[in-house]
Amino acid sequence: MIDEKRLIILTQSAKYDVSCSSSGSRRQNVPGGLGNAAFGGICHSFTSDGRCVSLLKILLSNKCAYDCQYCVNRRSNDVPRASASPEEICELVAEFYKRNYIEGLFLSSAVEISPDRTMELLLDTVIRLRKLYRFNGYIHLKGIPNADPLLIQRAGAYVDRMSFNIELPSERSLKLLAPQKSKNAIVKPMRLLSSADFKENARGRGAGKFLPAGQTTQMIVGASPETDGQILRLSQGLYDAFSLKRVYYSAYIAVNPQSRYLPAKSANLLREHRLYQADWLLRFYGFTAEEIVREDGFLDEEYDPKCAWAVRHMENFPVEVNTAPVEMLVRVPGIGIRSAYRIREARRRTRLTFDDLKKMRVVLKRAKHFITADGKFFGEENFGRMKTLLALQETNENAEQLSFLTGNEIEKSVITGEI
Ligand code: SF4
Repeated sequence: MIDEKRLIILTQSAKYDVSCSSSGSRRQNVPGGLGNAAFGGICHSFTSDGRCVSLLKILLSNKCAYDCQYCVNRRSNDVPRASASPEEICELVAEFYKRNYIEGLFLSSAVEISPDRTMELLLDTVIRLRKLYRFNGYIHLKGIPNADPLLIQRAGAYVDRMSFNIELPSERSLKLLAPQKSKNAIVKPMRLLSSADFKENARGRGAGKFLPAGQTTQMIVGASPETDGQILRLSQGLYDAFSLKRVYYSAYIAVNPQSRYLPAKSANLLREHRLYQADWLLRFYGFTAEEIVREDGFLDEEYDPKCAWAVRHMENFPVEVNTAPVEMLVRVPGIGIRSAYRIREARRRTRLTFDDLKKMRVVLKRAKHFITADGKFFGEENFGRMKTLLALQETNENAEQLSFLTGNEIEKSVITGEI
C-alpha cells in the first residue's frame, strides 16, 4: 500500500488540474472549522448523465522530464518527488471505494522517462482496475501527448473520459512556456479520440464502450498574452472539430515567480469566471466569440457576457415576449434557455404579461430593461441609470457567489450556468 508521504505528494501535485468541477476552489480550513477545499485528494465531477461524483484525484508520478514554465511539477522545480505503481493506485482506489470516500478516479501523471512509458503505466493501472479489481466506477484519465496512438486507443476502451490538455491558447506561447510540447502532439490524439474509425477499431481492445463520457481539455488563462477573443475562438474550434464535452479554463497561478516569461502575479479569477460564462453562451445560446468580446478582444468585467452584449446592442431591444423568436429571447439578460422555451409554450395559449413572466422564473429585475410584455415596458428608460442598476445587481450577485475571503483578498468561485 502506498505510504502517506507519497500519497500527499501525488494528490497535492494533481490539484492544479481543474478538469474536475470542484478543483477551482481554494478555500482553506480555519481554526475550529471543518473541511478544507484547498487540499488535494478528492474532487468532484459530473458524469454524462449529470450525476455529481467524488473522485480520487492523483498523479501516478510527479517526476517530470519536461520543464513547462507554469507547472509546479516542472523538472527544474525543487519540490518533493514521488511516484506510485499501478498496483498501489489500484489498491488505494479499491480501499477508498469500499470506505465510501470516492466513487471514481481522476488519474494523471507527469511525463516520467518518456510519453510511451508513462502512458503504458497509466494503461496498466486502468486495465488492472477494470479486470483484476472489477472496478466499475467512473475513471477520467489524462492522456500523455506524443504517446503511441495504440496505447491511447486501448486506454479509451477502459475509461469513461479522457483528456489531453491544450495548455495554452497559442502555439507561440506553447513554444515559449512548454518547449517540449507542440500543438500538433496535443491536437493529434484529440482528433483520434473523436474519429469514428479510431473508436470502431478500439472494439475488442478493452472492457467496454469507448469513452462514454467523451473527452475534455484544459487551458491556462493569463500566463500568456492572448485575448479572451482568441481563447474563445480556439474553444469554439475545439468544440466544433472534436465534439469536446468541455473546455476547462484555469486562471494562471504564479508558481514560478523567477520565470522571465511569466507574469509575476496569478491571473484574476474573475476573468476565468467570465470565460466560463462566455463558453456557456457559445455552446448553448448561439453566440459567436466575435459577438461576445469587446473591440479590444476582452470580456467585460462589469457585466456577465450576455448582459454586456445586450448593453452594447440596445438597438435590438426591447423585444416583445409574445412575438420574439426563441433565438432572440435567449439573448435577453435574465431569460435562460428553459425560460425562453417556457415562454414560447405559454404564449401559444395566452398573451403573456409581466405577472406571467414572474411565474416562469424570468429574472425580471434584469430582463425588464430589455423586453415588453403585451406592449408594456417596466424597465429603466435612462440608459446611464439602467447600466448603473445592472452593474449594481452584478456586484451583489457576485458578492453572493463569493466562495470565501482569504486575508484581504476576495476571490470569486468558478460558476457556470444559465445567464
Ligand atoms: S509535462 Fe509539463 S505540465 Fe505536465 S507535469 Fe510535466 S512540467 Fe507539468
